[in-house]
Amino acid sequence: MNDFEQTIDFIRKRYNTKGFIPLHEPRFSGNEKKYLSECIDSTFVSSVGKFVDLFEKKICEYTGARYAVAAVNGTAAIHISLLLSGVKKDDEVISQPLTFIATANAISYTGANPLFIDVDLDTMGLSPNKLEIFLKEKTIKKKNNITGKFETYNKQTKKCISACIPMHTFGHPAKIDEIKDICNEYNIALIEDAAESLGSFYKEKHTGTYGLLGTLSFNGNKTITTGGGGMIITNNEKLAKLAKHLTTQAKVPHKWNYVHDFIGYNYRLTNLAAALGVAQIEQLPKFIKSKRKLAQEYISFFNSSGITFFKEPKNCESNYWLNAVLLKNRKERDLFLEKTNSKGIMTRPIWELMNRLPMFKNCQVENIDNSEFLVDRVVNIPSSVI
Ligand SMILES: *Cc1c(COP(=O)(O)O)cnc(C)c1O
Repeated sequence: MNDFEQTIDFIRKRYNTKGFIPLHEPRFSGNEKKYLSECIDSTFVSSVGKFVDLFEKKICEYTGARYAVAAVNGTAAIHISLLLSGVKKDDEVISQPLTFIATANAISYTGANPLFIDVDLDTMGLSPNKLEIFLKEKTIKKKNNITGKFETYNKQTKKCISACIPMHTFGHPAKIDEIKDICNEYNIALIEDAAESLGSFYKEKHTGTYGLLGTLSFNGNKTITTGGGGMIITNNEKLAKLAKHLTTQAKVPHKWNYVHDFIGYNYRLTNLAAALGVAQIEQLPKFIKSKRKLAQEYISFFNSSGITFFKEPKNCESNYWLNAVLLKNRKERDLFLEKTNSKGIMTRPIWELMNRLPMFKNCQVENIDNSEFLVDRVVNIPSSVI
């Protein structure tokens, strides 16, 4: 048997089925039905209810963030976080070319433009080295006469770089402490797209808690799901209050009056979704344990294979949300995708680079050798909790 056939064989045995094996399916083995019917019985199914508050509290406890504000999905959570960090129309926001489209889309919703800096090969997340080189060589600091604080401007476009949003790819933490130091030095707000990394820790601190704000996603394919949902986490009380205000149509609290003081958004998570979330987060430690065990088994298996398995980077504990392998080149990658999918085992290439998509083709990109290397080789393999 060759490497591909052995891989197919291994995955089939591991999931113990002759049927179709998806990439990542949800598991509802806890209190989901109980909490959902409690929620329906209470009639509080919409955006007010005890499960929303409880879910936020549980996210705080698990991640160590001081505040958590639930949102309708992860993309909305990023949108609000960008607004809260002061991103304005025509600003620039640094991100990575190798990410899910939501990161770049949310930047665009604010009227700002994304600017793409390469990832590191060992994390697949934003490279602090390349970020620093770019900021050193291609930006200048200017004092804002109103606030008295300095801001960082892109020499080429003359635009203000107001935020940076790295992403923890497939749950593997980026070198977030180094990125944070660099952002601080240039007065650039740091937001972490931790949509994929609930349960991942960098130097024993949960991902999403290093930045000014962090965002999570509970989409159907994520580590835990609410059907659709997201969360903003932060240690900043003022921002947490504003996040709640902006996600609830910016209504000024009052017993009967309908007065709004900002252009707000209808981005609040429903109580129904949160009921699912509470049941799911109760099982999170069990899910992570199972996912890390599966990753260990993949590591041992691929050790004696011509295919490279992507292991968690140094200094961190990854949730191994989606396991990933690297093929030798694009041709081998395509053969692997063809072979596995035709045998009922779902595999998927990593996302097309953001700067190659029509909407973002005119955005500034720096040297992105690593992203270009990875996009030709990385494939996700089945990762559901067993
Ligand atoms: C899932 C995901 C999001 C958010 O997606 P939603 O479906 O809106 O919850 C954002 N960024 C990344 C990198 C993701 O993987």
